[in-house]
Amino acid sequence: MSQSPYQVISDSSATISSDVVWHKHAVTHDDRVTAKGHKPCVLWFTGLSGSGKSTIANAVDVQLHQLNVHTYVLDGDNVRHGLNGDLGFADKDRIENIRRVGEVSNLFVDAGLIVLTAFISPFESDRQQARDKLTEGQFLEVFIDTPLAVCESRDPKGLYKKARSGEIKHFTGIDSDYESPVDPEIHVKTDNRSVEECAKDVVDYLLVNGFIENRQGK
Ligand code: ADP
Repeated sequence: MSQSPYQVISDSSATISSDVVWHKHAVTHDDRVTAKGHKPCVLWFTGLSGSGKSTIANAVDVQLHQLNVHTYVLDGDNVRHGLNGDLGFADKDRIENIRRVGEVSNLFVDAGLIVLTAFISPFESDRQQARDKLTEGQFLEVFIDTPLAVCESRDPKGLYKKARSGEIKHFTGIDSDYESPVDPEIHVKTDNRSVEECAKDVVDYLLVNGFIENRQGK
């Protein structure tokens, strides 16, 4: 039996039949990385609602495209329209939401892409589970660090207002916990900074750490 190049589904409720054998493909992960010309990874954006995850992830995506890097953005709300359309917001569903995103990210990294995920992902254990699926060094936690009061004053989707009035329950930062990353690879403070400056923090990390090179115009 061929070995999977990455760790397979770890949902304790799922059992994988012994008849399901990992099929080894002729084109390897290394072949795909060579074709892309940069190192793949997941940029796992985490932070409170309204902290700027989607906005900064999209700005990073634009900057990476200008450097001819192959990327894909997995955004919380968008994924809930399709892949995770059957999930709600109870703890069990939130955990399954993040587990599936981890699995999809894993596949995209196997394909050689730089994946940007934008999910609140408030619990350290869930982020750790996503990290554990990837080869060491391929999971980069990006903490979008914005004080709750600033997120609430931005309130881009009007959700804090609804949470304060009790219309939405279990809202992260209000009546549900957010566990801040202890040692994120990239720590972005957004208050009083422009979106472009914040995005540059992320792109600079990728340049300095050799994930990408400045090959604009090549
Ligand atoms: P999240 O995805 O974390 O819920 P969004 O990206 O949807 O947050 O919303 C963040 C809001 O904050 C946007 O309206 C954005 O224009 C605003 N904003 C102001 N300054 C910044 C900054 N430096 N970085 C990111 N967003 C910012």
